Amino acid sequence: MPDFPSHTIPPGRTAKVCLIDTTATIDNIPFARLLEPPVEGVTRIPILRTYSFFLENSQGRKVLFDLGARKDLQNLAPSVRSMLGTVEWIVKVEKDVLDILQENGYKGTDIEAIVWSHHHWDHIGNVAPFPKSVDLVVGPGFKEAYLPGPSAIDDNPIPASDYMGREMIEVDFNGPRSLKIGRMMAHDYFGDGSFYLLNTPGHSVGHLSAVVRTSTNPDTFVILGADAIHETGELRPSQYLPIPETLNLAHLSNPQQNILCPGHAVHQFQESRGRKPTDALFKPTAGYNMVDVRSTIEMLQEFDWNENYFFIYAHDGSIKGIVEEFPIPLNDWKEKDWGLLTKWRFLEYYVPCLRSIAASA
Ligand SMILES: [Zn+2]
Repeated sequence: MPDFPSHTIPPGRTAKVCLIDTTATIDNIPFARLLEPPVEGVTRIPILRTYSFFLENSQGRKVLFDLGARKDLQNLAPSVRSMLGTVEWIVKVEKDVLDILQENGYKGTDIEAIVWSHHHWDHIGNVAPFPKSVDLVVGPGFKEAYLPGPSAIDDNPIPASDYMGREMIEVDFNGPRSLKIGRMMAHDYFGDGSFYLLNTPGHSVGHLSAVVRTSTNPDTFVILGADAIHETGELRPSQYLPIPETLNLAHLSNPQQNILCPGHAVHQFQESRGRKPTDALFKPTAGYNMVDVRSTIEMLQEFDWNENYFFIYAHDGSIKGIVEEFPIPLNDWKEKDWGLLTKWRFLEYYVPCLRSIAASA
């Protein structure tokens, strides 16, 4: 076994964190657009859910992390609309995050800031209906890359209505509340150790993830991975988190899909695709900077083996139906076994292929 990376996070308070299923889904994305090597019989990646997170610290300060996609897709930036017109993706959005907040008795004025993990349309939502007192928090280099200006890309991917008249704050990972968490640069957002923004570049300029302290004694954390990955198989297995030989998939949503010896089958599956058993199932194929995409995944793998960390990425379909959603906090995820129950659930999608490999062995 490798040495397990140590990553001490200084003591701090907890923050309440809730998972919001924004109702946006993206389906029919070709597998090869995001992942390699291929899987026999699999042409599309699993449907992408789109999550936002509601955070509240012990002083009642409330923040949203991402907003999913806006429901009025016709008002996306023109460049995004035309991109969506050229792909065969199936995009559905029923509600904006503000609708979901209001259905649960919250108002836009309750929120102090919205963190955009990055500039993509399926994360920035629609900020315009939030009061101008709500700040936007973005990663390093965001403004220069994505807002109009001499060096900005020609066609702004963000509608001006999202940021005009509103404060946009770029996270300073070298400022007074900065620290290292593992090998990642971090920023203690509230200053109370409950919510750290993480510098996880690669997918886009200034891509942000976050880590939230969900309990103390013992300290547990949820990592909000945003778009650091798009499929759990980009993160797992890893050299620190091999597939258990006797993996119990009894909690799969379809018990008929139980397979007999998935650990063994996955090893053979990896070998058949030129992968080591402890390699992640997939390599990412898309991103702004592929070197950074890969090193961000490696830095996150250094946390993912630890049973006190629960990793959720923005489009994580494998937690759906297990993790309770807003307004119920997910802070007691560990007591409820959500980390264990969801860890290998992504394999369900590949069961037909694993079955045929197991049968032919
Ligand atoms: Zn996304």
